[in-house]
Amino acid sequence: MQSPRVYLDHTATAPIDPSVWEAMLPYFTERWSSPGALYRAGRAMKRELEDARRRAATVLGGEPAEVVFTSSGTESINLALRGVALATQHRGRHLITTQVEHRAVLDTASQLEKQGWRVTYLPVDGAGVVQLDALTAALDDETVLVSVMMANNEVGSLQPLDAIVRTVKAAQPMAVVHTDAVAAAGYLPIEVTSLGVDLLSISAHKIGGPKGAGLLWARRGVLLQPILTGDDRERGRRAGQEDVPAIMGMVKALELALPSCSERSAAAGVLARKLIDGILASIPGAVLTGHPTQRVPHVASFCFEGVDGEALLQQLDLRGIAAAAGSACTSATLEPSHVLRAMGVPSALAEGNLRLSLGVENTEGDIDQVLAVLPSIIERMRALRAS
Ligand code: PLP
Repeated sequence: MQSPRVYLDHTATAPIDPSVWEAMLPYFTERWSSPGALYRAGRAMKRELEDARRRAATVLGGEPAEVVFTSSGTESINLALRGVALATQHRGRHLITTQVEHRAVLDTASQLEKQGWRVTYLPVDGAGVVQLDALTAALDDETVLVSVMMANNEVGSLQPLDAIVRTVKAAQPMAVVHTDAVAAAGYLPIEVTSLGVDLLSISAHKIGGPKGAGLLWARRGVLLQPILTGDDRERGRRAGQEDVPAIMGMVKALELALPSCSERSAAAGVLARKLIDGILASIPGAVLTGHPTQRVPHVASFCFEGVDGEALLQQLDLRGIAAAAGSACTSATLEPSHVLRAMGVPSALAEGNLRLSLGVENTEGDIDQVLAVLPSIIERMRALRAS
């Protein structure tokens, strides 16, 4: 099966950048030794790995020792949440997160809950934004970790991370703040010192990197118990042979995407404006979800009453357009989105959800194609349902 003619599901995954693939190739064919093995090739590989760590730290504005290479955004998030929870349980067993996080956060929090931790899931307003007074009310002496995403992958809304960090540090200076930056990377500045967080998760395959690589940035001094054990790699924070080709690809992708986030944002913003204006103008009752202005530019999610989201995706697919709906990142069958539910979107409206997420290879022609077919598909689906 070939790739779709118009791909608009970049928050699920993005195509690999050709220069990323090129940077990975030698590590499959020529330089495949185990980093740290005592012979010359192993020592050379270790030096290359540590150089990649330095490059990643430079892009993020942190220190090399603070970079933990993982297999995915999901693993980074698991390590942040479980790692801190397990390492700090003598201090307290209370975690705070939000109702609109990715399942990597929500499912991990819920497992910890089953194992005896207390978890507060902060509500959001109609735009998907956490209210600071709810955070203030939730913080207590037992709070060890607060995890709030930078940008929501389904509706694009930004969380007030600055204010969240300030609120946490003022009330509970020992509590650490983790942010899931997977949906924000490549579109918002990610400079760890100015963000003020203690932990930050990134995934390679959303920004032109390969699947199978992620990164957890963990501020020096943050206590983390490893969730994968078996050796002392990654300074004892993550055991297992490093996937060097994937790491090399991810670091290249970070170097390409993060420093150019304002250009990427501006380009996505132009296309998104055309898409959003076009859809709102041509489809009666179309609703743009998420915050009207405080949002990442590459995510545009809509609700259409009287439309079945899954059938809509099939109709678009027939016309060569790949899009997403609901919490479609992981599911073959569509569940109503927990994000839309938390935002108070009525289920009749949430059922007709369509999420279009842009990437660097999209063009105005792609948007024209969507605008050319979507209004008539919706009109037909609504007419069928009414008949
Ligand atoms: N966090 C967010 C916001 C995501 O959108 C995703 C994936 O869709 C993840 C975490 C998980 O990342 P990965 O696919 O690298 O495990």
